[in-house]
Amino acid sequence: MSKIAGEEITRRRFMTGVGKGAVAAAVPASLLKRTSADVVVPEPPGKKLGWAVVGLGSLAINQILPAFAKCEKARVVAFVSGHPDKAHKLALRYGVAAKNIYNYQNYDSIKDNPEVDVIYIVLPNGMHAEYTVRGLQAGKHVLTEKPMANSPADCQQMIDAAHKAGRKLMVAYRCRYEPFNREAIRLARSGELGPVQMILADAGFKIGDPTQWRLNKQLAGGGSLMDIGIYALNASRYLSGEEPSEVNAMIYTTPGDPRFKEVEEHVTFQLRFPSGVLANCSSSYGYFHQSQFRVCGTEGRLQLDPATWYTGLRLWVERDNAIEERQLPNVDHFASEMDHMSGCVLDNKEPLTPGEEGWRDLKIITAIYEAAQQGKTIKL
Ligand code: NAD
Repeated sequence: MSKIAGEEITRRRFMTGVGKGAVAAAVPASLLKRTSADVVVPEPPGKKLGWAVVGLGSLAINQILPAFAKCEKARVVAFVSGHPDKAHKLALRYGVAAKNIYNYQNYDSIKDNPEVDVIYIVLPNGMHAEYTVRGLQAGKHVLTEKPMANSPADCQQMIDAAHKAGRKLMVAYRCRYEPFNREAIRLARSGELGPVQMILADAGFKIGDPTQWRLNKQLAGGGSLMDIGIYALNASRYLSGEEPSEVNAMIYTTPGDPRFKEVEEHVTFQLRFPSGVLANCSSSYGYFHQSQFRVCGTEGRLQLDPATWYTGLRLWVERDNAIEERQLPNVDHFASEMDHMSGCVLDNKEPLTPGEEGWRDLKIITAIYEAAQQGKTIKL
């Protein structure tokens, strides 16, 4: 509770008990002068761009749609869904007009809807490329979920479509838009830990239902590496600020496990960066959830754990025989990334995580699979 709020409560209780006359004598004049001017009234938002959400699944319903309430520059105005009942129910909740509900067949006609500026693709990975390209061809800017697509070739097709249409393309690497990962990047690159020697990054969880799309090769593009290991890969790149020159990898999948008929379970991979920094990473659909990044310098180290959850991130820095936990604000990652995308459209700027960023991860992921299959180092 803030000091002022505490003082207010004390004052109210006092007034109830003894009446105003006694208050005048006992309460400092500064408190009595308080007026509604003490309440900070936020400014009205600036221009909010209209967003269409494509795919109304778990992430869209539980994270993205509620995040619009916290956006300064984005508002939801349209849905694209294969389930009209679900879309209409959500439209009532979020004030989306019935005429702005599309399905996958009439999606392209969104080009005639001037209310829609930006399209957010929240479909299974294997559908990102098609729906991104169709959205760009409809003249809209596109934010697509990670991983950008199933292959570097698909990513390239999306980048080309954005250039051709003269529209923005961004990949939803939400950790780049929140304070804990941003502070870790600043620390790692500032020299405050001494020259960085090694990065250790682990990302995984135990996956359930064997029938879900994440375990279908065509829809997911791969297993744990595509879905969750990509966080460890992306972090190794953004914490080091470099692009890897070589990769090594091993894959293990429990034989006979009904979940893993098409995609891999565990991956370990190593990256070598040009400066000499090494990264050691793991990705899993088998182990208890892990979300941990460590940066080891010659004079100190930092640890993010959890590093990628939607909330409750924690950052420790160890230097000079002391471990300090950094206190930073928890922001809504999705509101932050959507506002960034809107801002880039409004100000005609390149997003922090453009299509090329997603393409680079897919190039490295392809090399990781190749390294594991061939049992040798792959040069990038
Ligand atoms: P989900 O299964 O909950 O939702 C997928 C949606 O796509 C559903 O509405 C489904 O009806 C629709 N869909 C359309 N065609 C489909 C098909 N052929 N098969 C299956 N579903 C189909 O998945 P999700 O967890 O919401 O993930 C969606 C995307 O968001 C994925 O690319 C995923 O990697 C990404 N994601 C990102 C984060 C993050 O933190 N940034 C978290 C979770 C998921």
